Amino acid sequence: MESGHPPELPPPLVERDVPEDLRLYVPYADGWSAHIKTDGIREYCHFKQPGKDYFHLLLPGEIFLAYGEVRYCLNCAMRYAHLTDDRLFWQRGVRRNRDPIA
Ligand SMILES: [Zn+2]
Repeated sequence: MESGHPPELPPPLVERDVPEDLRLYVPYADGWSAHIKTDGIREYCHFKQPGKDYFHLLLPGEIFLAYGEVRYCLNCAMRYAHLTDDRLFWQRGVRRNRDPIA
């Protein structure tokens, strides 16, 4: 299976201009993992959006975070500050050892 060569990259679907820095960071990364939803199993984000009475369905292809068995859509991870677009986050606070589930 492994040939020792890196896999051939998929061709770009389209080349777009990226107007700003889209990179995201997990400031307290211990215990967190990032995933792409690749199966058809119905899974939901652990949280409801404020003002809504339903949980977000994670769609095939959706990137989400997990902390143990808890799934976070990127909006909820960002809402609870487990995810940031602030590249300088590491200069703004003391790192915690563990990140409690919100
Ligand atoms: Zn969510």
